[in-house]
Amino acid sequence: MRGSLQLRSAQPVRHWFSALSLACCTVFAQTPAAPEPALAQTLSQLLRQGFDHPQQALLALQRLTATQQNLGAGVQRSLAVTEGRLQVMAGDFEAARRIADVLALDPDAAHAELLLRAEIADRLGQSETAAGFAQQVLDSLAADCPQQGLGQAVQSQGCDFRFAWSVLRILIRTQFKEGAMPLAQSSAQYALALAEAGNDKALRSLSLGQLALIAQAQGLTEQADGFLAQAHKAAQGDPLNLAQVKNYLGSVMGFRGEATAQLRALQDGVALARQADAPRLQAHMQSNMADAYLRLKQPALALQASQQALPVVLASKDLRIERSLRQNIAVALIQLGAFDKARQELQRSMVLRGDSADQGVRAEELRELGEAWAAAGQAKEAVALFHAERKLSAELTARNREVSLQQLKIKYDSDRKQSDLDLLQRERTLVDQQLANRGLAQQASVAVAVLLGLTLVFVLLMVGKVRAARQRLQANELLLRAQSERDPLTDLANRRHLLAVMAQQPKAEFSGALLMIDIDHFKHVNDQYGHSVGDLVICEVARRISHAVRAEDLVVRWGGEEFLVFSPDVDHETLHRLAKRILMEVGALPVQAQDGPLRITVSIGFAHFPLPPAMLDLHWEQAVNWADMALYTAKSRGRNQAMGIVTVSAGDAEALMQIEADFDAACSSERVSLHQVLGPAAL
Ligand code: GH3
Ligand code: MG
Ligand code: MG
Repeated sequence: MRGSLQLRSAQPVRHWFSALSLACCTVFAQTPAAPEPALAQTLSQLLRQGFDHPQQALLALQRLTATQQNLGAGVQRSLAVTEGRLQVMAGDFEAARRIADVLALDPDAAHAELLLRAEIADRLGQSETAAGFAQQVLDSLAADCPQQGLGQAVQSQGCDFRFAWSVLRILIRTQFKEGAMPLAQSSAQYALALAEAGNDKALRSLSLGQLALIAQAQGLTEQADGFLAQAHKAAQGDPLNLAQVKNYLGSVMGFRGEATAQLRALQDGVALARQADAPRLQAHMQSNMADAYLRLKQPALALQASQQALPVVLASKDLRIERSLRQNIAVALIQLGAFDKARQELQRSMVLRGDSADQGVRAEELRELGEAWAAAGQAKEAVALFHAERKLSAELTARNREVSLQQLKIKYDSDRKQSDLDLLQRERTLVDQQLANRGLAQQASVAVAVLLGLTLVFVLLMVGKVRAARQRLQANELLLRAQSERDPLTDLANRRHLLAVMAQQPKAEFSGALLMIDIDHFKHVNDQYGHSVGDLVICEVARRISHAVRAEDLVVRWGGEEFLVFSPDVDHETLHRLAKRILMEVGALPVQAQDGPLRITVSIGFAHFPLPPAMLDLHWEQAVNWADMALYTAKSRGRNQAMGIVTVSAGDAEALMQIEADFDAACSSERVSLHQVLGPAAL
């Protein structure tokens, strides 16, 4: 369900949200260019302390200000923005805004003002506003902190790396939340480079933690482990930092659906936070623990963890975490059958929510609550919540179009680069092979010349040997190529293979049909039965799809639980039947797992290219995107069905791009007509 509310690549929001936000406890920015190192260091310490003990840090800042004499304008700015950020940490947004207003009067303090406003918006959960401010600062910082030659810029104090790092932190969180993973990843890489240029171990470990989370969100498990190991190493000797890394570890494990490992990491983190006297960090992690307990269906423990965290969260006026805690308390109470108490708790969180709540988070909350009421047999409440969730999800779908278009552009660029590289690599292999063959041929002729002088039998023997060597060479080469183009889990072709097939097509414009297939609610399978059952389901679905298609169709494992079928030669009727066959083959019979039979269905988006009636030329990657958009529609209309694009009324490439930018609207206004194929009825 979550997948339909966010971008398809987006992930559950709540449990990582707090992990990324915790990075702020060691963010200590001043205005660029950097203030004197000694002062910068002191201010960073105060900001580090401020996350958990804002009032103490504010007092210490006052004392520091009193001891400074003949304050220069730069130092004054540094002190002011630090105070503003501490006020944000203390939850006094009015005071912080007043400081931002004062900074606004100073033309040299534009960066500082914008960062402060970004942090205020961020703490209030208005992430788009926060990211807007942060992006403005970053654009103008690019010259001071160039990605090339960053080390020198930081050394000469032309670039305040801590400042730039904290701006990036806000951007990364929004990009992550919107599912814009390539953007989030490049921002986090930039942040890591800044921390390394400034030789700041704490920031380095946090950036590595962010990168681990981003990698895991893309299903890159090994890469995530690698980043976590480095983060852990960088945090050695610093309990606060180690606690933050454990929190990242917990979120990564949560993503993998390994709730037990998630709990272990969070328990370690809580112990470390206690040791580092970091009560707010501790409470954040307890709130994440409550999530994990709920997932493990242990409501009593979830309730306990939430109630332990609540007083600290109330004291620090951390509305976002308070909401999440109250939500968890309500779900736990429902699961424990304490319905009246649950209703009271929900009433309270309703008051907290206000207008500033993030829609993605809200939709996820509604879904969770709806499921809890349904499981407790309270149908009336469950139905009301499911309706509310559906309404919100329709709104979100519309908004996510914009982000998805941006993502698409980035994806086109990087996929195109990758296919260029692949082509280059293949050419190189060909040249190597020709050289090697030429060498072999030379050896053969020399051998033959020598042997001619000897006996004919000997000559024949040698020729035979050379031939065998050549055959072995060719066989090895074929084997290697076949292996690199197969997906090891399902033994289907992989993306690289499709790329090779497309590169061999006679024309640059794509023709044929594509079906993009995605398993429905697959996260539930992972969450409830574990990753290995998830893998088994992926294999079985791959087998069923292969069984449903024809010999001339190519089935590709496109990503985690997504498959792409390329039918080079198919008419419209046959294509509809093909979609129906796949739906039936996958969904008609349950998949047998250790714990019993599982009902698995898929959604499909498909189309025939070039698109009628205008038959405009498309690159194959663009064609994949059209199939993907149709899949998205199949998901949003209830899953277990296929949506085929029948006609598109676009006269030229520009009109086609406009439709791509808002596919939903184009469907509603019938500029795109669709054909629906339903999957099997429930068993
Ligand atoms: P929806 O049908 O609406 O798309 O919901 P969903 O739950 O399927 O959502 P989404 O497609 O976003 O989630 C796919 C999940 O598949 C996320 C990821 O953890 C999991 N996954 C990705 N690759 C693998 C894999 O190789 N094995 C297993 N077991 N899980 C994987
Ligand atoms: Mg799915
Ligand atoms: Mg998916």
